[in-house]
Amino acid sequence: MKPYVREKKSFTQSEIPQSTCFEGGYLVSVNSGWRSIRPEIDTNKCVGCEQCYLYCPDGVISVKEGKAQIDYDFCKGCGICSKICRPGAIRMEAEHK
Ligand code: SF4
Ligand code: SF4
Repeated sequence: MKPYVREKKSFTQSEIPQSTCFEGGYLVSVNSGWRSIRPEIDTNKCVGCEQCYLYCPDGVISVKEGKAQIDYDFCKGCGICSKICRPGAIRMEAEHK
């Protein structure tokens, strides 16, 4: 039997899962408080390209109305989203306690 991904030649945008944590996500517990830095999004610079959404290892970014949003309950502060964002819309800031 062929794997599903080989049967399909291409995907439409509506077939790609969005908002992995915001709605019906797989993560069940919030981060344990060890995050020392957190990503802050400058919505004026965000162009909605979804690269941060695709690269976030925890799937905690969603793009709504053309702007990225982060679920801080599950973000671990790894900074990958900041590195991948070409317009420089994500800055890592010290965690506020
Ligand atoms: S990678 Fe940057 S510009 Fe693209 S959606 Fe994420 S925050 Fe916005
Ligand atoms: S810091 Fe890491 S876990 Fe948090 S939103 Fe960015 S890529 Fe995802």
